[in-house]
Amino acid sequence: MKVLKFGGTSMGSAESIQQVVTIIRAQRKASREAGYGNGLAVVASAMSGVTNQLLQMASQAEQGKEFEQSLQQLQDRHFQVVHTLVETRYQNQALMELKLLVNELETLLHGIRALRELSARTADLVMSFGERLSTTMLAHILRQQDPQVLYVDAREWIKTDSHFGNARVQTERSYALICQAVNQHPDALFCITGFIGSDEHRHTTTLGRGGSDYTAALVGAAVQADEIQIWTDVDGFMTADPRIVKKAFPLEEISYTEAMELSYFGAKVIYPPTLIPVILQKIPVVIRNTFHPEFPGTVIREKAKRNGTLIRGISSINHISLINIQGGGMVGKSGISGRLFSLFARENINIILITQASSEHSITIAVTPAHAEKAKRLIEQEFELELATRKIEPPEVEHDLSILAIVGENMRQTKGLSGKLFSALGRNGINVVAIAQGSSEYNISVVVKQHDLSKALNAVHDAFFIRTKKTLHVFYLGTGNIGKTLLRQIAEHEDYLLENRSLKIKVVAITNTRQMVFNEEGIPLKCWENYLQEHGEPASLDEFIRRMKSMNLPNSVFIDNSASAEVVKHYEEIFTSSISIVTCNKIGNSSEYSLYKRFKDAVKKYGVDFFYETNVGAGLPIISTLHDLLVSGDKILKIEAILSGTISYIFNEFKGNRHFHEIVREAQAKGYTEPDPRDDLSGLDFMRKMLILARDSGYAVEMSDVEMEPILPESCLKAPTVEAFYKALEEADEHFEALKKKAESEGKVLRYIGVMDEGKVSIKLHAIDASHPFYFLTGSDNIIAFTTPRYRDCPLVVKGPGAGAEVTAAGVFADLVKVGAQ
Ligand code: ADP
Ligand code: ASP
Ligand code: MG
Repeated sequence: MKVLKFGGTSMGSAESIQQVVTIIRAQRKASREAGYGNGLAVVASAMSGVTNQLLQMASQAEQGKEFEQSLQQLQDRHFQVVHTLVETRYQNQALMELKLLVNELETLLHGIRALRELSARTADLVMSFGERLSTTMLAHILRQQDPQVLYVDAREWIKTDSHFGNARVQTERSYALICQAVNQHPDALFCITGFIGSDEHRHTTTLGRGGSDYTAALVGAAVQADEIQIWTDVDGFMTADPRIVKKAFPLEEISYTEAMELSYFGAKVIYPPTLIPVILQKIPVVIRNTFHPEFPGTVIREKAKRNGTLIRGISSINHISLINIQGGGMVGKSGISGRLFSLFARENINIILITQASSEHSITIAVTPAHAEKAKRLIEQEFELELATRKIEPPEVEHDLSILAIVGENMRQTKGLSGKLFSALGRNGINVVAIAQGSSEYNISVVVKQHDLSKALNAVHDAFFIRTKKTLHVFYLGTGNIGKTLLRQIAEHEDYLLENRSLKIKVVAITNTRQMVFNEEGIPLKCWENYLQEHGEPASLDEFIRRMKSMNLPNSVFIDNSASAEVVKHYEEIFTSSISIVTCNKIGNSSEYSLYKRFKDAVKKYGVDFFYETNVGAGLPIISTLHDLLVSGDKILKIEAILSGTISYIFNEFKGNRHFHEIVREAQAKGYTEPDPRDDLSGLDFMRKMLILARDSGYAVEMSDVEMEPILPESCLKAPTVEAFYKALEEADEHFEALKKKAESEGKVLRYIGVMDEGKVSIKLHAIDASHPFYFLTGSDNIIAFTTPRYRDCPLVVKGPGAGAEVTAAGVFADLVKVGAQ
C-alpha cells in the first residue's frame, strides 16, 4: 500500500485539486499494476492559509470581535471548489456536509465569543475544521469516479495524549486502530484528515503546525506501506530553503538522519517528527511536486547515495533568542546543566541548541523568542541561591538572532568543513555569535544576527555547492567611456563566464552622476541604459552606498569607474562593510600615504579584495606583475617607467629635424592628449602612478617626496590659453633643440622617465643610449622595467598600450573576475 499526502498549496484551489485528483488516479492505477494491492491512503491538509485563518477567527471571537465575514469567505472558498469539481447531481450532498461543518464551527466560535475564552483545547478543535473541510471536499470529488472512497476523520485513528497544540501520539494504539480499519477495507481509497487526532476523552488534538506530514507517516508505518509520498509545491528536498537561496536545487536522495536534522533546523518541507515512525521499517519517503508531477522528486531513505558534495544541505531557523548563563560557580559543577535541562523539560521549553564553553564557565542556550523571557525567569528562580551568592551572573538574553546549520552524513569523515564554513562567513563580514557541533557530527550550527541570515545562507551555499554557480553582486559606479565599455564587455562575456568559470556576474545597482537604479535580481545589461532611464531615481552617492550596505548581499563588489575624489572617501566604509572594490580610479591610492595604508589595513582586516590593476598602465599587467614578484619572494630594487602615452609619443618622435612644438600639435591631432596638452605634460598623472608603484613595492612615499623635473619651461605652464601655450612652446624651441642636439651627439635619445630607486622616486628627462630598454620605444606605448635580485642584469619589462577605454575596461573586468578567487 502507498500513502500520499497533499499539503496546503496542493489543496489550495480548484485547479490544484484537479491536479491532485489526477495524481491520485494515476497512483491508484500504478499501485494496482505494481502489485501493491488496491488500497491507497490519501492524507490531506487544510486548504492553504485556512489553519491560520481559523486561529485568527478564534482569536477575534475571544476578543468579542466579529468573525462572520471571514467564516463566510471560508465557506465560499470550499463551495467554489465543489461547484467547479463536482458534477451537479452530486453537489448537494457535498455542499450539505460542508455546510454542517461550517455551522458546527460557527456555533463553536459563538461559544468562544460568549465566554471570551479560548483554551488550547478549544483552539485545537477550531483548527481541526481546516482538515475536516478540505478532506470532506476531496472525498466527494474523488467519489464521483471511485465508489470505494472512504472519508476518515483521523480523530478515529490517531490517539494522542492531551498536550493540546502539540500532542504526543500513542503509536501502538493508533497503529492498531488504523490496521483494523484498513484490513476491513483492503481495496478502499482512504481520504484521511491530516494534522488532527484525539485524546482518551475523545477531545480533539493537533500534532503541531505542519503536522499532516506526520499523519501520513503514522498511517504509513501502521500499514507497513511500500512508500509514503509527500506532495508539495517544490521539486523535492532542496539544498536550502528555495525562498531564500535562489540557487538551491532539489536533491535526488537524502538519508533519514539528514532529513531529520535539516527539518529540525527549519527545512519546512517536512515536519520534523515525520520520519520517526518510518525509520525502523525503512519505508522510503518521497517528496514530490504536485505542480510538476513528471519530476521524480527526492527519496528519503536509510542510506542515501553520495552526490559528490561535502554536505547535503543547509537550513536555518529564522528567529531565535539566546540565553547566556555564566559564572565561576559553574566550573566543574556537572549539576548545573542537568538542572537546566530538567527545568526546561518540565516547563515544556524546547532547547534548540546548546553550547558550553570548554572552560565550563558559560552555557549558551537557544530558544524560540516566545520562550526567552519565561526561560530567563525560570532560571532566575531555579538558581536563586547561586545568583544571590554570585556564583552565577544574572542570565542575559539576546534577541534577533538566527541559526544556520550545515548538515550531511559525510561530514564525519571530512576535514576542513568548519574552515570552509567560517571562511565563507568571514569573507562576507558575518559575525558568528555562537557555534554548536552536534555529537553526531551530522550538523554544525552557527548563530548569526537575523539581519545577516539571508546573506549567510547564500554565501555558505555558494561555498559548499560547487556544482552551483558563484554569483558576484556588483554595485556599479560610473557610466562614462570606460564604464560604458565595461558594461558592454560584461554583457558580451556573461555566458562564457557562466559556462567556463561557473561565475555569474550580477550587476545589482548602477549609478552615474545623474541617476541610480537598484535591482537585486540583476539589471539587464544588454539594455542597461533604457533600464536606468525608466527605473532610475536621482543619483545620490551617500544613498547609493547606504543602500549597497543595507542590501547586505554575499560576494558584493563595488566597481568605481570614476576619477572622483568624493567616491574615494567612501572606500574605507565600503571595505568595513565586507564589500570588495575594483577600480581604475587612482586618486585613492595616490593621495596621502596614510589613506593608502588605511585601505590596505581595512582590506586585510575584513578579508575583502581591492584590485586596481588599471591604476597604472591601463590593462597592462603591471601591478599584478609587481605583486607576483613580491609574493614569490622577490624584492623590487628599482623601477623605471614611462607611464604616459602622450609623453612617450612626444619623445619617441622628437628626433632628427622635427621640432618639439610640432610633435605636441601632432599628438593632439591624433587624439593622444587631453584638450589641454599640459594636463599630460605636467606629469601629475605620471607621478600618481609612480607613487602607487613605490607604495606597492613597500615604500611609504608621499607626493612631496617625489623629485620632479617638469618637461615644460615656466612660460609654457603659465600661458593663459592653449593657443598661448603653443606660442610659448614655439618660443622655447631652442631649449628643446639644445637638449636633443646634445643627446644625439652622444648617440643618445631623450626619454622622460619615472624612476623608483629603493624608495626614492624621481621623474626627469634622461638621455639614454641603445643599451637601455627604452631606447627603441616607438609610438605611444607605456613601458616599465623592474630590477630585482632575480632580474638584476636584464630587467623584467612590460610594454604596450597604456590607455584607451577598451583596454582599461578589460583590465577592470579581469580584476572583477578575480574577486573572491583566493
Ligand atoms: P505543504 O503545504 O505542502 O506542507 P510547506 O509549505 O509546509 O508545504 O513546505 C514546503 C515549503 O517548504 C516549500 O515551498 C519551501 O518554500 C519550503 N522549504 C524550506 N526549506 C526547504 C528545503 N530545504 N527544501 C524544500 N523546500 C523547503
Ligand atoms: N494545516 C496544518 C497547518 O497549517 C497542518 C499542515 O498543513 O500540515 O499547520
Ligand atoms: Mg508542510
